[in-house]
Amino acid sequence: MKDRKPGTEKHSSAWRRSLSKKLLVWFQQHARDLPWRQTRDLYAIWISEIMLQQTQVATVVPYFQRFLARFPDVKTLAAADEHEVLKLWEGLGYYRRARQLHAAARKITSDHRGQFPTSIDAVRSLPGIGRYTAGAILSIGLDQRLPILEANTIRLLSRLTAYRGDVNSGAGRQRLWKIAEAILPKHECGAFNQALMEVGSVICTPRSPACSECPVVALCGAHRNQLVVKIPRPAKSKNYENVTEIAVIIRRGISVLLRQCRPGERWAGLWDFPRFAAAGESNTALDRQIAKRVRDLVGLSVVANGPFVTLKHGVTRFRITLHAYEAEVKSTIGSSGDLTRSGARWVKIGALADYPLSVTGRKISRLLLSEDFTPRKRPASAAQP
Ligand code: SF4
Repeated sequence: MKDRKPGTEKHSSAWRRSLSKKLLVWFQQHARDLPWRQTRDLYAIWISEIMLQQTQVATVVPYFQRFLARFPDVKTLAAADEHEVLKLWEGLGYYRRARQLHAAARKITSDHRGQFPTSIDAVRSLPGIGRYTAGAILSIGLDQRLPILEANTIRLLSRLTAYRGDVNSGAGRQRLWKIAEAILPKHECGAFNQALMEVGSVICTPRSPACSECPVVALCGAHRNQLVVKIPRPAKSKNYENVTEIAVIIRRGISVLLRQCRPGERWAGLWDFPRFAAAGESNTALDRQIAKRVRDLVGLSVVANGPFVTLKHGVTRFRITLHAYEAEVKSTIGSSGDLTRSGARWVKIGALADYPLSVTGRKISRLLLSEDFTPRKRPASAAQP
């Protein structure tokens, strides 16, 4: 190919043919053996694609296997209780994905008689499915000629075409989608799309890509123009927000109080110890805060009993420091129905494993369980980065 200004190259049909041939041959020889690659069942591919959003392959594998063993098809998932779906999702994070998966399974059952739809419009109308996911499911499962664009292919395509613009801008995305569409081969689109993602994931990595092992090095604009380290242009650094929260462990005999988080709350649908954003610094103010916020949240009058553990945790743009305190019940203010109405219930410490908990809620529950077996041994602090 003649030298042109990087990023302005028009790729000939010979370039595109060579690209798909090299990628397909490489993928046949090097594709990782992953459980969702052993099937063309649209349901299973859909579950894997949703789980893989924002999550590493190695983390997803056991979750995928457990999920498919319990919910082998759309109808089983649709008939399940959300509590159980969230329980199987616990630890994967981004719980909205699980709730949308469940809602989509119910929509497929009502609108498509439980059969995963095969038209792009019907698939895109399902909750939680955008252009990328729909393209991935239908190209991988049915070889439909649909493009894909996700983090790995954004990086790979911008390097291959030496695109120096902002890949996170609307114009940048539009351009990359066009490229993803233009390079699709006539056949084997599923394998081709997976090959793009695989090369992006294991060879054309964000830092130190293995260009010497890359099957498409001869076609790569960034490599030819010595621009690999400059492409894609680094994203603006995220603005993290530090947040301090209080969780309250209220005991009654061998039980503790859990509350189900409401829609709109960070852990919506999951269970957690009563929790609120901290305000003020002094211990007296803190004791008053705990008493007031617990009364507001679950209608119980409590008295704070001292710190239990401090945990650090990151969720999306938030860096959370969570101080967990113990508290005792002084009196129930309203009727016993107040607890139920507030979404709270007493749960035996030994039964905490049955509840889908927030990440920090699970850490606290593990400490409570270990404390159960070794009474009076309580960590003063277990800050975790
Ligand atoms: S040659 Fe290097 S930069 Fe280009 S696609 Fe391959 S790994 Fe990525």
